[in-house]
Amino acid sequence: MRKIFVIFSLLFIFGCHPKNEKSTPIVKLAATSATPNPVRHGKAKNVILMIGDGMGVSQITAGMIKNNNRLNLERFPIVGLHKSHSSDNLITDSAAGATAFSAGVKTYNGAIGVDPRKKPVKTILEECEEKGMATGMVSTSTIVHATPASFIAHQPSRKMYEEIAADFLKTEIDLFIGGGKKYFDRRETDERDLYKELEDKGYYVSDYFKENMSAIKFDPNKNFAYFTADDDPLPVASGRDYLYGATRVSTGFLNARSKGKGYFLMIEGAQIDWGGHANDANYIISEMLDFDKSVGAVLDWAEKDGETLVIVTADHETGGFSINLGTTQDTMVTEFTTDYHTAEMIPVFAYGPGSENFSGIYENTAIYGKIKKALGL
Ligand code: MG
Ligand code: ZN
Repeated sequence: MRKIFVIFSLLFIFGCHPKNEKSTPIVKLAATSATPNPVRHGKAKNVILMIGDGMGVSQITAGMIKNNNRLNLERFPIVGLHKSHSSDNLITDSAAGATAFSAGVKTYNGAIGVDPRKKPVKTILEECEEKGMATGMVSTSTIVHATPASFIAHQPSRKMYEEIAADFLKTEIDLFIGGGKKYFDRRETDERDLYKELEDKGYYVSDYFKENMSAIKFDPNKNFAYFTADDDPLPVASGRDYLYGATRVSTGFLNARSKGKGYFLMIEGAQIDWGGHANDANYIISEMLDFDKSVGAVLDWAEKDGETLVIVTADHETGGFSINLGTTQDTMVTEFTTDYHTAEMIPVFAYGPGSENFSGIYENTAIYGKIKKALGL
C-alpha cells in the first residue's frame, strides 16, 4: 500500500502536471496582442495607402518577434490577402505591383502606370487630383523609384528615372518627400532643372542639404516637395530617420491643404525589399520596425480623424524569407530561398470607413476598386 502511494506521488510530481514545471521559459514575448480598432463604416474622405515593399508575412513576423511580439499592424480590425502576380510573370516586380494598386490593371514587370500594351492608365492619385482632393507621396527610396512612380508617371520602363521625374511636373501633386534629387536638378537626358521648375510652378521645394524638414514652416497654400537624398536614401540602420517625421508632416499638411475636400496619400517603406534582396535579416527587421512606427503614426491620426481609410500592404514578398528552429528574441535563425521576389500571397490590413471591403482573398488589382468605392468615386 505504502509503495503504491509513493509511485502515485512520483507520478503526480513528474508525470501528470507538466504545467507545474519550474524550468525557465525560453519564449519571453509579451503574452497579449493589442486590441484591434473597431470596424468603421460609411464613406471615406481621405485614403492613406501604406506599402511595405517586399513585406511578406515572415518579414512582419520577424519584426514582431524583435519588437517583443508587438506591432502597430495588430491594431487593424480587417485583414485580407492579395494575389500579387503580374500580367507576364507569376513573380511580380514593384512596378507592376504598384500599377495594380494605382490603376487596377495587371501589367508587365517594369511597367510604370501603363497597361500591357504600354498605354498610359489613369491612376488613383490622378483621379483624386481631378476631383479636387489633395495628394501626396512619401518614400524611403528615390521618389522616382518604381513604387511611387507608378502612382504618378506613365513610362514603359521603371529605369527611365529622368522621364519619371519629368512626369511629376505634369501633375498637381501637393506633397512629395523622398530621395532622388539628382534626377530633378542634374539631369543627363536634357538640360531641364526640375527643381527650379517646381519652384516656378509654385512649390515650396527644399532638400536635406538645405534645411531639416522638421525646421520648415509649412504653408498650406503652397505645394511642397522635399528631397531626402541625392540618390537612394540610407538604410535606417545607417542613419536615415525621416519616415516617421515625414508621415506626421504629410498627414497634417494634406489635411490643411485639402481644405475639407479630402486627400490621397501613399507612404512607402521601400527598403524592407532591399533587405530581402540583400538576404540580410537585420536589414529587413530594422526597416520593418521603422515602417511599423509610421503605421502607428497614421493610425493615431486616423483614429482621431474618423474619416480616413488606412490600408497597409506590400507589392510582394522578397527573399523567400523564413524564420527557423533555434530562433530566439536575441538570435534570429533565418534562411532565404532567393535574392529576388516570391509569389506568396500578401496581407492587406485596413482600418476606417470602407475597410470592411478588404477582408478575404482577391487580386492585387482589386485594391484600386476598393479604394474608389470607399471614396465614392
Ligand atoms: Mg518600392
Ligand atoms: Zn524588389
